[in-house]
Amino acid sequence: MSKFESIEFFNKPDATVPYTLLPFSFTALDATRYVVTNLAGEYILLEREPLQRLVNGTLRTDESLYIDLRARHFLADEHSKMAPDLLAIKVRTRNEQLANWTGLHMFVLTQRCDHSCPYCQVSRQTEDKTSFDMSREHADKAVALALRSPNPAIKIEFQGGESFLNFELLKHVVITAKEANRRLMQPKDLKFIVATNLSVVTDEMLDFCAQHEIGISTSLDGPRDLHNKNRPRPDDDSYERTVAGIVRVRQRLGRRSVSALMTTTEASLTRGREIVDEYVKQEFGGIFLRPLSPYGFAVKTRFFRAYSAEQWLNFYDDALDYVIDINRQGVEFREYYAATILTKMLTCKDPGYVDLRSPAGIGMAGVIYNYDGTVYASDESRMLAEMKDTTFKLGSVDDSFETLYTNETFLQSVDETFAYSVPMCTDCAFEPWCGADPVFHWRQHQDMIGRKPESEFCQRNIHIFGGLIRRMDRDPFVRRLFTQWAHTC
Ligand code: SF4
Repeated sequence: MSKFESIEFFNKPDATVPYTLLPFSFTALDATRYVVTNLAGEYILLEREPLQRLVNGTLRTDESLYIDLRARHFLADEHSKMAPDLLAIKVRTRNEQLANWTGLHMFVLTQRCDHSCPYCQVSRQTEDKTSFDMSREHADKAVALALRSPNPAIKIEFQGGESFLNFELLKHVVITAKEANRRLMQPKDLKFIVATNLSVVTDEMLDFCAQHEIGISTSLDGPRDLHNKNRPRPDDDSYERTVAGIVRVRQRLGRRSVSALMTTTEASLTRGREIVDEYVKQEFGGIFLRPLSPYGFAVKTRFFRAYSAEQWLNFYDDALDYVIDINRQGVEFREYYAATILTKMLTCKDPGYVDLRSPAGIGMAGVIYNYDGTVYASDESRMLAEMKDTTFKLGSVDDSFETLYTNETFLQSVDETFAYSVPMCTDCAFEPWCGADPVFHWRQHQDMIGRKPESEFCQRNIHIFGGLIRRMDRDPFVRRLFTQWAHTC
């Protein structure tokens, strides 16, 4: 039997056959075009007229558009009886990470920090207050909880404050977790990462990280003056310490062992290109452009309201266009938020980024054990608790795994944040790529779903999804570049 339809099938003079529409959504991209997506996240751009004919059932089988729509599971006919089953398999593949449960386990080793960043989302304590350190007893219980997760891959991330200010506990957790993992019937793929500003890192710390293959995640906000303005410390030398630390980490642990995150403050808004240049200069392969979150010191010092969603999007667009330009000039460099979305748009994979998960990733993608033994559904949940709102507290390390993950607020969040059934999201063509941020919406609207027409999360994503599609549509170079990002995310 031939694998392909006969030529007569494509050349039928009267090629109007009945077809069935499979579930899809559409959203206007501009005055004439619509983004059309299906449940599996595949998309196509259509003008109004062919979209109307698709919906009215009057597309002809000899149109290339018909074949395309059928191949991508937007419609089915007598030649594609398996289409609904194939679509279901794709949807299941995209959501298979849900079954794995919580993979990221964050340990707040200490609230102490040597920096006093005005935007800091954690209300830090000064360096010498050891009462803000996690105890060994709490750490041991947190390790046991982390290893109870059914996820075969567990990542333990150390956070602060400044994680290395409690290096003794860091060592204890790594050794204890490795020993406990070895005793499991089915040991996990166990990895460690330290979030650190690198200002207090020593050779002993780096030796330990090398011995146990611990990755480093640091903060770099841009060129020297901007970084030091954003991240004050005694001697005004945060940038110098971070950059020197990056060099030392690479020498001791290897080139790929260190990544960096930046935070956008008002002072960053006009300097996106310089920030990208700084990341290229420090030989990073990309940058994650992200806005301030409305928590902790960022709010207390009114930094969060220092710029609007629109101002941040202008910053993002300019910096992303610059990243594309430097790729055009032969420099391989990517923007990671775009790369994450493009992976969802252009492949069957879902990188599982916590803010782009549906239902929301809080608790299910990651969980955080605070220095005092309380357990929160996400880093942002703990930051909210610093503002006296403990809505997203799951319990404490004294609770059982079952008690923590049947917490009422957590279950409510899972129930309410399945985007496919959320008002407005249910009709939105971007839903297969989007997610939910219940902590952000709770903070903004006292509601886990949030009012989408007023939601900056929604505004940001609509703008970015549409912007990525427009860039690909008008420039073949960008389409090739974005496809490459999507397949290597
Ligand atoms: S949050 Fe906004 S962009 Fe995302 S699916 Fe819902 S309506 Fe669409």
